[in-house]
Amino acid sequence: MQRASWSALFGIMCIGVTLAVTSVIYSETTDAAPPEQRLVWLHAKTSKQIQQWVDGGLDVWQVDGDRVLAQVTQEQLASLKESELDFEPAPQLGMPVFPACYRTYSDLPLFFHEMQAQYPNLFQLYDVGDTWEKVHGTANRDIFVARLTNYDIRTDKPKLFITAEHHAREIITVEVALQFIEDLLKNYGQDPQVRWLLDNREVWVMPMTNPDGYEWVVQLADWRKNTDRPQLCPNGAPPNSYGVDLNRNYGYQWGLDVGSSPEPCMLTYRGHAPFSEPETQAVRDLVQQTHFDLLLSLHSYGDVILYPWGYTYQPAPDADGLYRIANRMAETAGYAAMQSWGVGYLSSGDTTDWAYGELGIPSFTMEIGGMEDGFFWPDCTKRQELYDEVRDALIYGAVIADAPYERANGPDIRRLAVENDGQMVINAQADDMWNGEDTIAGIELFFDTLGEPGTGLRALPADGEFNTAREWGVFRLDPSDAPAGASLALVRARDEKGHWGPPRAAFLSPPASGDSQATPTATVPPRGLTPSPSLTPHPPDLTPIAPTPTPVMSGPTPVPTQDQPWHLTQTAYLPLVRMD
Ligand SMILES: [Zn+2]
Repeated sequence: MQRASWSALFGIMCIGVTLAVTSVIYSETTDAAPPEQRLVWLHAKTSKQIQQWVDGGLDVWQVDGDRVLAQVTQEQLASLKESELDFEPAPQLGMPVFPACYRTYSDLPLFFHEMQAQYPNLFQLYDVGDTWEKVHGTANRDIFVARLTNYDIRTDKPKLFITAEHHAREIITVEVALQFIEDLLKNYGQDPQVRWLLDNREVWVMPMTNPDGYEWVVQLADWRKNTDRPQLCPNGAPPNSYGVDLNRNYGYQWGLDVGSSPEPCMLTYRGHAPFSEPETQAVRDLVQQTHFDLLLSLHSYGDVILYPWGYTYQPAPDADGLYRIANRMAETAGYAAMQSWGVGYLSSGDTTDWAYGELGIPSFTMEIGGMEDGFFWPDCTKRQELYDEVRDALIYGAVIADAPYERANGPDIRRLAVENDGQMVINAQADDMWNGEDTIAGIELFFDTLGEPGTGLRALPADGEFNTAREWGVFRLDPSDAPAGASLALVRARDEKGHWGPPRAAFLSPPASGDSQATPTATVPPRGLTPSPSLTPHPPDLTPIAPTPTPVMSGPTPVPTQDQPWHLTQTAYLPLVRMD
């Protein structure tokens, strides 16, 4: 957008202004720095005005009531000064840089290879698509998804899908996704909740949904979209650069001029058609074929968890249930939960509206971190802190995936302690304060495997009666009450309305540190044989059968053809297997 347009956006009658065009051309060959930008606080008169700024391409970073934090170019700043708008400078960020401790696309192969080598029975990797630049021959990047579960337990498990980095500059989302993968794999033997989770759930993580955009971020720090068709905006420096906003390219309520832009050089350009981009096609095809039970799309920043709809102020049919889930996740992170427009403006064509609206999947956008964490570029000191902030929310999303709305209505087990010293005493605190504030009606215990609701051992109320929304229950057991070889206590609670909450796990006795038996025995296929798992929802070899030394998910090698644009290649041995 050029100056005359910015003037119009900021409400200036501006005739005969020379069109300023930046001289920086963003192509693969340039090493020029982006133009200097400034942060300003704008004061909006109406919410409609904020929407117009966003849809008109203003780089809005956050909205606090009627105050809008935006990054503006010198050109936009000049237009602002000519306008009658009320604005003030915000504390300046300086030129953002990509932190050295963050991983890049080129770090992914080694990372995946290490995970595959160390945890072959918990980790599989799929190449689920090519980026726009790979499709058009200017780069060679793939879109990967990691599938985490205990492959020795072959049942049809509830599935969580986490997709990170639709927006390139939201770099903390890549680190959170990669750390979550590492965390689950490394703690399978040490953390009872993780043990139960990978035995009973599938966690699918797409850590880098927009690898082309990420390459620009590594160089420039500031890039939002993918890198579709540079020729459309040859003179466009950020924020007027080329590319499609992948989080406006999904096919549910796509094409609205409120919440997205039809202009190729705008920050929220939605593409020329729904699912025009290979990146959103990859997510679409994976989600449609895999039948996920819950979806989390990681973004930054805002310290909020958002639920559909984003395209309208109207509530979704399941608004109460979506809010309940979002609020419960937000509570663990110290975030706020709200319908998507609560960030200050509508967004149309996003991942969560599509997954919920088209497929009925409870879907959430997690905006990780806040301005105090460094805006879009949290530095190395913040990286672990932000992961720790959202870790339990991610775990919660996976645990409740069997029945998300029901579980979020049921009580949580907030504390669980096992004393196993002659007599076994298990204390469990059930808490419904974030799940409807209903009175606790019962707490039950299983060993290793959950049974039907209501069939477990029953806890006695510690204070004599279950009559509030937060109660302690006590199990006093003889060690012989636990089956021989049992290792996990699983406890869950029910409220007076009959809602069963999610289980919490504890070890019956502490695991030996460095216990190699804690990780399932490796069944590494011979080199040269690549197991090629099927992604059909109920593959015939997923029925529960006794473990065998053969690769768990083996099947015929799929041969990509012209008729099969969606191809699946397991890249078990990255250095040896060509990925395409
Ligand atoms: Zn985003």
